[in-house]
Amino acid sequence: MAQTANRERRGCSTSGCQFDAIALSDHCWQHTTDRDAYKNTLFEHVDARKSLAGGNFAKVDFEDVILDGADLRGANFSGACMRRVSLKNVNLAEACLAHTNWEKSYLEKVNLAGANLQGADMSRADLVKVAAEEARCSHVDFSSAGMERCSFVEAFLDFANFSEAHVEHTSFAAAVMGGCSFESAELVRCDLSRTNLAGATFHGAVCRGVNFHLSRPAAANFREATLEDCNLAKAIIREADFSNSTLARCDLLETVMERGRFKSVVFENVNRGNNDINGADFTDSKGLD
Ligand SMILES: [Zn+2]
Repeated sequence: MAQTANRERRGCSTSGCQFDAIALSDHCWQHTTDRDAYKNTLFEHVDARKSLAGGNFAKVDFEDVILDGADLRGANFSGACMRRVSLKNVNLAEACLAHTNWEKSYLEKVNLAGANLQGADMSRADLVKVAAEEARCSHVDFSSAGMERCSFVEAFLDFANFSEAHVEHTSFAAAVMGGCSFESAELVRCDLSRTNLAGATFHGAVCRGVNFHLSRPAAANFREATLEDCNLAKAIIREADFSNSTLARCDLLETVMERGRFKSVVFENVNRGNNDINGADFTDSKGLD
């Protein structure tokens, strides 16, 4: 077996096979027949703190594997299965993880900065202190996931699905989040400042202490949502639909509410002023003087 994760492409040693060999093997995953031995080699490599940066792990099945402390920067995981994987202190910066399945996985202090996760399935995953700045997460399924103290600053999250997710103390500052779904999600003390949230949905979501300062949820859906202690100052909620929502102790200073739909909204102790409310509909709303 090769002793290092090879950054250069090596073909699989099985004659006639067109696939590349995976890191630490002379064969592609399909032709790596003793998979328990392969995983032991991998664990020994990680335990010895040897780098696997840039390694090829295409189609490798990591289901239920624990890989704490691994250096997998820039590695290729296309077609790999990460279901129920457990990763602590793992470096996956710039890694290729597009369309991978991470269902029910556990990630703690994992570096995903600049990684490509487009179309990945992270449903029901648990993420703690994950750093995913500038990561490419378009169309990632985070439904029913748990997130705590993560960073998605300046990440690309358009059309990502956070429905029924529980997200707390997580920053999405300046992220691209158009078309995102937070349907029935719970967001606690998250930073969504300066995000593009055009067309996003927060239908039925509960937002507590969320910072929407300077965000742009134009034409977003906040129907039946509950917003408590949220900062919406200078946010552009033009044409957004807040019908039947509750806004308690929220800051609405200089919020652009033009053509917004605020039918039957309960406003409690909101701080507002200098709002553009041209064409906005406040039928049956309560709490605005
Ligand atoms: Zn092969």
